[in-house]
Amino acid sequence: MQRIKDFFEVALGLDEESARLEASRCLQCKNKPCVKGCPVGIDIPSFISLIKEGKPGEALEKIKEKNFLPAVCGRVCPQEDQCEAMCVLNSKKIPINIGALERYAADHAADGRRSIPAAVNRKPITANHNKVAVVGSGPAGLTCAAELAGLGYKVVLFESLHIPGGVLVYGIPEFRLPKEIVRAEVEYIKSLGVEVRMNILIGKTFTLDELFKDGFLAVFVATGAGLPNFLGVEGENAAGVYSANEFLTRVNLMKAYDFPRTATPVKIGATVVVVGGGNVALDSARCARRLGARVILVYRRTEAQMPARREEVENAKEEGIEFMFLTAPKKILTDERGCVNAMEALKMELGAPDESLRPRPVLIKGSDFLIDCQTVIIAIGQSPNPLLPKAIKGLETTPRNTIKVDENFMTSLDGVFAGGDIITGADTVISAMGAGKKAALEIDKYLRTKN
Ligand code: FAD
Ligand code: SF4
Repeated sequence: MQRIKDFFEVALGLDEESARLEASRCLQCKNKPCVKGCPVGIDIPSFISLIKEGKPGEALEKIKEKNFLPAVCGRVCPQEDQCEAMCVLNSKKIPINIGALERYAADHAADGRRSIPAAVNRKPITANHNKVAVVGSGPAGLTCAAELAGLGYKVVLFESLHIPGGVLVYGIPEFRLPKEIVRAEVEYIKSLGVEVRMNILIGKTFTLDELFKDGFLAVFVATGAGLPNFLGVEGENAAGVYSANEFLTRVNLMKAYDFPRTATPVKIGATVVVVGGGNVALDSARCARRLGARVILVYRRTEAQMPARREEVENAKEEGIEFMFLTAPKKILTDERGCVNAMEALKMELGAPDESLRPRPVLIKGSDFLIDCQTVIIAIGQSPNPLLPKAIKGLETTPRNTIKVDENFMTSLDGVFAGGDIITGADTVISAMGAGKKAALEIDKYLRTKN
């Protein structure tokens, strides 16, 4: 299969004929149930109707009234659990493919160039010269910044990495979300007047107090959930064990997939074991496969309980990823140099439901067996980035280390707001965007009453 030899995008999207055909199935329901399933409230029937009429540029304008990252969302949003889950045609098991239509509009708008979102005419903005700082350039930060710029604020977005986009650039691989798409959407947000400053770690390079002293009247913290969780098993510190976060950052952000054209390779063995069952585990597995490895994905529950999107599981199977369900790592074994040479694993069976209401996996005693491997990638979830919350005196956090906010996204500190994965724990692109959007409106309200 050619596609496991490169990192080109896998899903190709709809052409004009199939997009218009799909759009023509929409019933244009008066009460718009699909819109209720969209965390940013896109007017879905209206943009679908514009696609049906052959006007992708106008459809994109309609989407961008509510969503600043349509080419991203059309590719990675779990629409099957959101807008498409609310579509009335679900009763016939054929909901409108809203995600594919959103992507079509973004890719085929006005300038006709596929994959490059066109600039959209927006109402002229009346600048108010009030400065707001946004910390973190993932979907929550980008959306909040764009929304505030649209309301006339002077917004500066601070990012610790050298490229903006958060997980969209360092986590999700090129073959699911080309980085050119993210770059183009960030350029669009910059064109709204947002200033983006890279390589600045707020909490270290500047403190929040320094931002306020510098004239910022409010701060939105959107630093995400980038701290990897580990298994806590023996051998986890061996050479050849990566967190999914490190592995994906090396492959995507540092472009290890393009070695030797880039000077930043990632070392993996002939057999890679990936531990986990979510999107992050599948992204890691599919990257390792493309780098030439045999890949075994070890998951402690069954396929039906995998949190990953169905489409990703199917793609991974087609690409030759081997799945070991009802299996849990017990120990990572090493050779005399301290390098991984096997994983000791245990078989599981399903027991009574746990707090997530899914059947709890229970160890089968004496079922130990060995999996020969030279690399292990741990993808069992991420926790909120702790640096900033720890660096801010008086900022309240929860026992899960998320930042506590009230119903207006305000933290325990006056003028400091937060949203996205840093308040929810690892979630989705669109829910982070929804938080960014709502927080921007709350920041606007707060500053209006304050001034
Ligand atoms: P992030 O995207 O994490 O962005 C936070 C940003 O803040 C980062 O750029 C970070 O460098 C920066 N930062 C952190 N601390 C500081 C600081 N002190 N100063 C300055 N900058 C700082 N969701 C989906 O909907 N669909 C998917 O298919 C999907 N796949 C995923 C695959 C992977 C591999 C991962 C890891 C996640 C995936 N998700 C997916 C989840 C989704 O990407 C996240 O929920 C979303 O990106 C959260 O957005 P955010 O803006 O809160 O944070
Ligand atoms: Fe169209 Fe489905 Fe929305 Fe009805 S619920 S307007 S059919 S997308």
